[in-house]
Amino acid sequence: MITAAGTTLIFNGSLVDGTGSPAVANAAVVVQDGHIQYAGPEKAAPEISPNARRIDALGGTIMPGLVEAHYHPTYFNVAELADLDIKYSVEYVTLLAAANAKLVLECGYTSARSGGSLHNIDVWLKKAIEEDLHLGPRLSASGREICGAGGLMDWNPEHLKLGMEGLILLINGPEEGRKAVRKLVKDGVEWIKTYPTGDAAAPDSADHHTLCMTYEEMAAVVSEAHNYKRKVTGHCRATQGIKNALLAGFDSLEHGTFIDDEGLEMLLKRDVPVVPALQFEWASIEYGPNFGMSQAVVDGHKETLEGGAESARRILRAGGRLGMGGDYGFAWNPHGDYAKELSFFVKHVGLTPLEVITCATRTGAEIMGRSHEFGTVEAGKLADLLIVDGDVLDDISILENRSNFIAVIQGGVIKAGRLKSI
Ligand SMILES: [Zn+2]
Repeated sequence: MITAAGTTLIFNGSLVDGTGSPAVANAAVVVQDGHIQYAGPEKAAPEISPNARRIDALGGTIMPGLVEAHYHPTYFNVAELADLDIKYSVEYVTLLAAANAKLVLECGYTSARSGGSLHNIDVWLKKAIEEDLHLGPRLSASGREICGAGGLMDWNPEHLKLGMEGLILLINGPEEGRKAVRKLVKDGVEWIKTYPTGDAAAPDSADHHTLCMTYEEMAAVVSEAHNYKRKVTGHCRATQGIKNALLAGFDSLEHGTFIDDEGLEMLLKRDVPVVPALQFEWASIEYGPNFGMSQAVVDGHKETLEGGAESARRILRAGGRLGMGGDYGFAWNPHGDYAKELSFFVKHVGLTPLEVITCATRTGAEIMGRSHEFGTVEAGKLADLLIVDGDVLDDISILENRSNFIAVIQGGVIKAGRLKSI
């Protein structure tokens, strides 16, 4: 991805740098050749050339670009998971994924980690973005997702002839787990997404208290992935599944819903980050019935939301790390609503806006393994920045509305926001 040449001064804003430090009032950021040269009080900023570009933050907020830590560009706002495999051709899904990649960038997310992909689209989407052929976030690509046969993602009875071939690699036993990882590595993924446990979304075949992969399968997937220096994450709701994943060596957990004391201790010991994705549960309860969701499933989502919110609070208060990712791409939780996840954590989970922004920036970059490059506004990092018209620490929900972005910047280049459209 090309970085900007020359110098840019961003001034007249309050700096929220993503490290968790309090905001710096009357701040300035100096960008030199796509990287941050200075971030701090405006009065201490270095002298810059009179030819430098100047951007007035209008008294608003200067902050790091957001990181979507559980992103599915290929999930095309489906009313049910089975649609992912049968509704559209791979060609059309690729175009939809490209549109979602542009959208997430316009929504202020300059980076994203995929939580699983149809076919191998994410890998190629990432390449197109990196080569500046298409607008989108810096992407960590996943591929097809691994699930045990008969588990959460294998609920279609045989006669329907729906094997989820576009999305899922079904495995039986550790050797098939190793084989699936080798295939994904060959195809170029960075993250291996797995389904160790069930979910409220499929209560008939695998509720969220059950396990969808054996410990042996999980351990085989991790050892093979780590052998190739790839990372593993998994859809972990059930208490024992969380512990199995931690024991097997998972690099992050998705959801971490029903974590118990022992699981929390294991999590903290290895400092494994968790991406709860709770707005998804709220949206499922609120809007799911409009899309044919049964009361049993809605009740499951209610239990999941309660358990997930409690676990998220406990993890953060105990010193653990949370990433902000929303699992968007369902009819009731569509692309474009990404920042609702952030508001949800402030309004309903009880985190402060500063805590949430730190999770959504620094921790997101850490999950991607790229915190040395971006995620905070500090000298030496890439200038992946948001300039927001308003005080995000006073009202985090202003991040939900794209019209509040003065600029969305990647490597010093303005990619979206009001200044882009001028
Ligand atoms: Zn997901």
